[in-house]
Amino acid sequence: MGNHQSTSILESKKVVVVGGGFAGAHAIRHLQGKCQLTVIDPREYLHYSIGSLRASVQPGFEKNIFVSHNEAWGQSFKQGRVTSVDPEKKVVILEDGEEVQFDIVVIATGSSVPFPGKVGLNVTTSAEAEELFKEFQGKIKTANRITIVGGGAVGVELAGEIATDYSEKEITLINDKDDIIHVSFKEKFRQKAKEQLEAMGIKLILGERVSNLDELTTDGSQPCSLVKTDKGREIETDLVIHAIGIQANCDAYKDNFADKLDERNFLKVNEFLQVDGYTDVFAVGDCNNADQVKMATKAMNQMEVLAQNVKALVDNGEMIPYKEETIMTLSTGRNSGVTQFKSVVFGSLLTKKLKSQHVFIHRFWKETMGLDLKE
Ligand SMILES: Cc1cc2nc3c(=O)[nH]c(=O)nc-3n(C[C@H](O)[C@H](O)[C@H](O)COP(=O)(O)OP(=O)(O)OC[C@H]3O[C@@H](n4cnc5c(N)ncnc54)[C@H](O)[C@@H]3O)c2cc1C
Repeated sequence: MGNHQSTSILESKKVVVVGGGFAGAHAIRHLQGKCQLTVIDPREYLHYSIGSLRASVQPGFEKNIFVSHNEAWGQSFKQGRVTSVDPEKKVVILEDGEEVQFDIVVIATGSSVPFPGKVGLNVTTSAEAEELFKEFQGKIKTANRITIVGGGAVGVELAGEIATDYSEKEITLINDKDDIIHVSFKEKFRQKAKEQLEAMGIKLILGERVSNLDELTTDGSQPCSLVKTDKGREIETDLVIHAIGIQANCDAYKDNFADKLDERNFLKVNEFLQVDGYTDVFAVGDCNNADQVKMATKAMNQMEVLAQNVKALVDNGEMIPYKEETIMTLSTGRNSGVTQFKSVVFGSLLTKKLKSQHVFIHRFWKETMGLDLKE
């Protein structure tokens, strides 16, 4: 009886999710049919960024990484850019002035990194987005010497992808830290990744910062340009790729929640993923400050917790806390990689099966989006 009653209360509630990325996709999975759900995103597609680096190198793969919101989500999807979330009037405001009412709002606007990690928020059609990757594949193909700036997961995976398909190219990865990947991962994890890159002939320059980043174009239009580091090193290169600089997509919330932002503009949330000081405003995924390392798996796990907490909120039930868990699969191309599950580290054998071969693409289309891959 209790359960039945609480479901019907939730059914009458308008839940608006701002952002149709990985978190938004899991809102559909866990909340569609249980409440009046609307997911709003300015783009007609979900960008499967986990496949961006494969799509940077492998012609045709770009078709797999943009999934139509309309096809997957139907009536629950609304295309539009949210410019403001008003917690007093309980509306989100779109850039054309339209107001969408909510009982509960979930901010899930994610983050941006330079292309090819993610595509700009202004690229609203999948045709445009696919074209960007096709052009980029050509740039990688023609460049003999490639320098990747940034030794986090994106830089490492990209170096591995390029080296796998183009073993003859001179690839250099520069990181300002003395190691690669985030320090929260085990030393063994980072060591294995380094060994894999070096075995592929990738040159690692660690503990040096690129000092002339502003002078370098990243579109391959300056062949033979000189990348300089703060230790006086100079590297001749044909293509510079940025794999640095994650930024919060905060345009939708920065004005009304100015006092709820951390120093990098991510929304401060409590353990139940409610924005600091609010009951009916939640923030999920990359745009909040819940995790040390921002990952799609965490965004999706958070949305699962959120779905239960939204139900608990309308039902006067008990909310459950979100707990960060360490699980990371890092591919260094199609044939190798490293996985850390809690504190155990696995090498290429497992990682190749889990991720490196297909970057989870079939599972994502089928299980998360409920569609067949276009291939
Ligand atoms: C190259 C690369 C590889 C990665 N590989 C992995 C991996 O292997 N495993 C893993 O777990 N994680 C991986 N990640 C991290 C993962 O991509 C992010 O953690 C994930 O995208 C976060 O999901 P999200 O839904 O919070 O945000 P996003 O995916 O960034 O989605 C946010 C959505 O909000 C929308 N939005 C933004 N502003 C507005 C607005 N004003 N109004 C309405 N909508 C708005 C955007 O259009 C976007 O669709 C990778 C990231 C990159 C860049």
